[in-house]
Amino acid sequence: VASAQANFMRVVVQSISEVQEVEEGKIGVELLCVVKAVLKKIKRRVLVGDKVLVGGIDWNDKRGMIENVYQRDSEIMDPPVANVDHLLVLFSLEQPKIEAFALTRFLIEAESTGIPLTLALNKCELVDEKTRLEWESRLRGWGYEPVFCSVDTRNGLDSLYFILRDQTTVLVGPSGVGKSSLINVLRSSQQVSDVSEGDNQSVNIEGSKWLEDQPVGVVSVKSGRGKHTTRHVSLLPISGGGYLADTPGFSQPTLLKATKVSLPQLFPEIRKMIEDGGPTTCSFNDCLHVGEPGCVVTADWERYPYYLQLLDEIKTREEFQ
Ligand code: GDP
Ligand code: ZN
Repeated sequence: VASAQANFMRVVVQSISEVQEVEEGKIGVELLCVVKAVLKKIKRRVLVGDKVLVGGIDWNDKRGMIENVYQRDSEIMDPPVANVDHLLVLFSLEQPKIEAFALTRFLIEAESTGIPLTLALNKCELVDEKTRLEWESRLRGWGYEPVFCSVDTRNGLDSLYFILRDQTTVLVGPSGVGKSSLINVLRSSQQVSDVSEGDNQSVNIEGSKWLEDQPVGVVSVKSGRGKHTTRHVSLLPISGGGYLADTPGFSQPTLLKATKVSLPQLFPEIRKMIEDGGPTTCSFNDCLHVGEPGCVVTADWERYPYYLQLLDEIKTREEFQ
């Protein structure tokens, strides 16, 4: 998210085919911007989540120009968002019922992006306390601290919002677990808070006394060249800072980013064993942790069979490449 030292840096929060909106997390004026010709010439595509330099601002007309795009820390293409720094992996405990191997595939896919993740389990009102506690301790054993929530009862959403704060998050998970529902709750709670904050600040906004260094929202319009089929993505502002993409990411893990060498690192259990193991054979060659002499990775952990299964799957794929 845009930092205080760069007064003119803003974040693109919306992209509707050729229209993009830029904002700085706080409630402000939205500006309609064009992208400077030189950027288009060098084919610099502006993505939602991009930090941009906005100049030539006309405060009456609420227009400006995107003059530059800051270097991205990360970018994902599904949905197209720049500077994603958090993935929220959402599963439901029931309807559909959580399933350990399917969840593992999602976690591995998420881990393979290199972006930090949080695991949240929805529909927790559909199961009893015992089931919830069982999953909690099981997932802790995997190296994750799950957040339990229910979009229906709003249970646990506070802790979820707290986790979302100050980060740009993309939600991933299989279909039916409540991703759209969560996004909608957030969207509507945002509208409510927009109204109240707007009321508080109406003097500022309507007096159009914004200084150039005040946080503002910006809408950019790329002059349309060719047929863009950019998917519509918006970043919903989280109260207290941060954004959640309103379009979920992958809903089916492909594991294409994982290799047989990188796979072990995508399991927190293996990461920990190697870390605790000190200098071992594992660190010298590309140990696959399948019983090599001197290997510190044992076989006595719950997901070891999943590790072997995924390793097999990836090996087979690599052989055919
Ligand atoms: P998505 O496919 O992940 O986007 O899932 P949806 O948001 O479309 O939700 C699928 C279904 O689950 C819908 O019928 C929702 O109303 C329902 N749902 C979402 N959250 C909850 C919840 O916390 N509890 C229950 N019981 N149902 C939920
Ligand atoms: Zn090993």
